[in-house]
Amino acid sequence: THQIHIIGGGLAGSEAAWQLARRGFRVRLSEMRGTGERSPAHQGDGLAELVCSNSFRSDDSEKNAVGLLHHEMRLCDSLIMGAAAKAQVPAGSALAVDRDVFSAEVEARLTALPNLEIVRERIDAIPEGGPVIVATGPLTAEALAGSIGRATGADSLAFFDAIAPIVYRDTIDMDVCWMASRWDKGETRDYINCPMTKEQYLEFHAGLIAGEKTAFKEWEADTPYFDGCMPIEVMAERGVETLRFGPMKPVGLDNPHWATPEHPNGRWPYAVVQLRQDNKLGTIWNMVGFQTKLKHAEQVRLFRTIPGLENAEFARLGGLHRNTFINSPVLLDRTLRLKSAPHVRFAGQITGCEGYVESAAVGLLSGLMAASELAGHDWQAPPRTTALGALLSHITGDADAETYQPMNVNFGLFPPLHDVKKKQRKEAYTARAKEDIAPWLGGIAV
Ligand code: FAD
Repeated sequence: THQIHIIGGGLAGSEAAWQLARRGFRVRLSEMRGTGERSPAHQGDGLAELVCSNSFRSDDSEKNAVGLLHHEMRLCDSLIMGAAAKAQVPAGSALAVDRDVFSAEVEARLTALPNLEIVRERIDAIPEGGPVIVATGPLTAEALAGSIGRATGADSLAFFDAIAPIVYRDTIDMDVCWMASRWDKGETRDYINCPMTKEQYLEFHAGLIAGEKTAFKEWEADTPYFDGCMPIEVMAERGVETLRFGPMKPVGLDNPHWATPEHPNGRWPYAVVQLRQDNKLGTIWNMVGFQTKLKHAEQVRLFRTIPGLENAEFARLGGLHRNTFINSPVLLDRTLRLKSAPHVRFAGQITGCEGYVESAAVGLLSGLMAASELAGHDWQAPPRTTALGALLSHITGDADAETYQPMNVNFGLFPPLHDVKKKQRKEAYTARAKEDIAPWLGGIAV
């Protein structure tokens, strides 16, 4: 019999199974594909299927956060990185793979492990008793999603359709923007506000209407918009004033940059774009009410016409797809265990990370955590200054629970290095991470 049960043979579940079985633990890996059942996005039955693009994004570990994450995962003998190397196709500085070769390689490496049993079965409820890792992804089958909903409190299992872009704080021009809350008297300056004149607003509105949108996938077509989560361009289509009475409302927002002797506190702009702090570090800010399904290039072009965001760099762009994830910062402890049922650990995109690499990375961490628990060791978290540590900290507590939305790894999640010049900052983050990860690796050795 197995010592640990992993549900879901996607990127996270496969990686977790590898980390555990390689350390000698007996693992049962349950995957529903292969039984005739598939999510709306999966095409085949192979483990670790890449459902959309074939890219693991930048492989540059000196200037790029996801490249750094690749590097750290390789140091941890990652299955996903190992299989990617075998399946690599040319893609400049990105790591891209032949998805069939990749999936076959993952499956071959896992099948070769004697203490790992791969079972093609659908699990409909969180198992009781022994340790479990739930890694069923953003398209978790319905019955299990219901069971997770009951275990976490129905409200905590979030379904969302559109997400708003996130901007790096240090790329916002504060000579144009200002900090204020609506109607504040200077006490609670919680938002960054970007002012627009009437001409700027009308031009921006026209840009939203004309902008190129991502087409709906067939299986998304009947997904309704949730209240308060309507894409900005859909709102714009309802009328030229709709946004000025919605997310771009200017009332109660005196712009001090526009102060005159008559109006010493400044004037209200014609419209305002607000950004809200998105992490405890204050390094990344989300555009309030700006969920969108505009094409990514279009978002960058159009949102950089917003005064103060001319040079904005985006930690994440808006997007639209059906997604299931839990409110991890509230529900999980620092080792990814459900606080209310600690025998259950979560991994992969269902924890609220976003992306193939991130999902695999959280799978890797969950495998290491479970291994350490089964061996009776104390778990040492990876340092916060590493990509693994920064991502884990975000998911398990540092993110704002109220606005929690899927997140890619990015330098905004790292403890800031204010004293380093901006041009050298990326290299400084990666150099620090590489130095700090070394001592931690000793503790996870097989
Ligand atoms: P998955 O890889 O989805 O693995 C979950 C596994 O669990 C699946 O194999 C599934 O069959 C199985 N399963 C589900 N329910 C059950 C059950 N009840 N019992 C047994 N097995 C079950 N990220 C990118 O980086 N690039 C992209 O281009 C990209 N495109 C995406 C497109 C779509 C449509 C979606 C939904 C997501 C996309 N993502 C993308 C985000 C994310 O990286 C992927 O979803 C990634 O596969 C998540 O990894 P995972 O291991 O958490 O889940």
